This record gives sequence, C-alpha cells and structure tokens, in this order.
Amino acid sequence: MIYLKTDEEVEFLREANLLVGKTLAELAKILKPGVTTRELDVLAETFIRDHGAEPTFKGFPNPYGPPFPGSICTSVNDQVVHGIPNDRPLQDGDIISIDCGTKLHGYCGDSCYTFAVGEVSEEVNALLRTTKEALYKGIEQAVVGRRIGDISYAVQTHCEANGYGVVREFVGHGIGKEMHEAPQVPNFGRRGNGVMLKDGLCIAIEPMITLGSKEIYMQPDRWGIVTRDHKIAAHYEHTICVRKGKADILSSFEEIEEIITC
Ligand code: MG
Ligand code: MG
Repeated sequence: MIYLKTDEEVEFLREANLLVGKTLAELAKILKPGVTTRELDVLAETFIRDHGAEPTFKGFPNPYGPPFPGSICTSVNDQVVHGIPNDRPLQDGDIISIDCGTKLHGYCGDSCYTFAVGEVSEEVNALLRTTKEALYKGIEQAVVGRRIGDISYAVQTHCEANGYGVVREFVGHGIGKEMHEAPQVPNFGRRGNGVMLKDGLCIAIEPMITLGSKEIYMQPDRWGIVTRDHKIAAHYEHTICVRKGKADILSSFEEIEEIITC
C-alpha cells in the first residue's frame, strides 16, 4: 500500500528530516581520528532526544537476531550498512557512513552521509563523490510522471560507468509514519519500469556503492553488512517528496557540509 502525503504531512516529514541533518552535523563536529563510534552514538541519541524526537533505529527489530542496540548505524570502511557502534577508535584514513533516523510528531526522518576521517586517498574521495552524485542523479528523476525504475537506472548507470559495485540486497523505500513503507526504491533497474511517481510520494533514495564487487555478507552480530572482498563502501541517503518538475529534498546536507570540506 502506497500512502501519498498531504502538504501538512510533508512539513512534518521535513521537520524530522532536518533534525537528522542537524544531528549528522553535530557528529561531524567531533569526528576525527581517535573518536569511537560509541561516542558518536551517545552524542546522536542525546541530541535527538533533546530536540523532542526519538532515534528510530534504537531497538529496531531484526528478523535474524537481537534488535539494533544503537541510535545510529556507523558503518566503517568495508561495512556497507547497519554497523553497530563500538569502542574501536576511528583511524586516520577510515571512512564512516553514519545513517540516522528520527521520529518527530509521529513522522520519520532518514538520511545518511559518508565521511572521510582525516586524510583519505583520491581513490576513496572519488568513490564518495560518485556515490553522492548518483544520489542526486536519482533525485533528478523523482518527479511526477516518471517511474521508480528511472531513479534506479540513473543511480546504477552513474556508479557502474565509474567501475563501482551497486549493492542489490538493500534498497531505498517509502517513508512516512513508518520508516520503511512501500514502494521499494532499488539502486539498480530499468528505465520506465516500476511504480509511477505521483505528487506527494515521499521516498528515501540511498545508493550503497562499493569500490570493488557488489557482493556482501552479514557479520556474526547479525546486523553489520560487509563487502565480501573487504573493499570500502559508501552510502548517502536523502528523504525526498516527489513533485512536478523537481523533487523537494526534505533532508539536508547543508549543515554537514558547512562543517566538512569533502
Ligand atoms: Mg537510513
Ligand atoms: Mg533508509
């Protein structure tokens, strides 16, 4: 069942999503070699609750094991998604995807950004840049009259043209009162295929892109997803509302990118 949102609901979604952007910017302020992902997690949870919201990831159910223990997913280097915060200090040259979800006034925010920790190589920067470009190419397609497959195709072709792997097992999604609603938004697909995009459809678009092969596996903690070849992976995510002519991006990287220079 696909729920199109009213203008009022879209504003609630925007509020929840802007809080995600602010939270990620707070984390960016302390992100440097030596910081642990648990420290990031504690800061995120405090910041989200101080703003009257709930961290939706905390206690998120898992069909394969225990619920998610953290308030953010911190996926380092070869981890693609769903990394559990831990006590290992981040090192110079690491990359970390921080995926964050909030619930505010009953509506969900969901956005992710991949950060370089200290200095990284040009090869790593190129992966980050291309993955973010792919996200915006997907968003360009998220307009009334196109189809989900147009978004998927735009993301996939941009990443594969640059020689990267496009993860298949995890996808974007509708979003509203629930973090994951219909329809699914894959990062691979065919133009002109899939659900027709209508005004008020709110979706999270989230390319998960690897430097090597697209194959992945699940870590023994039953959450972390890692590339099989242990090459690094990047993940960027925006929540958007489909509109005529141009999508309305409800989350924001603006405050994050005021802090970093990547
Ligand atoms: Mg997310
Ligand atoms: Mg998502």
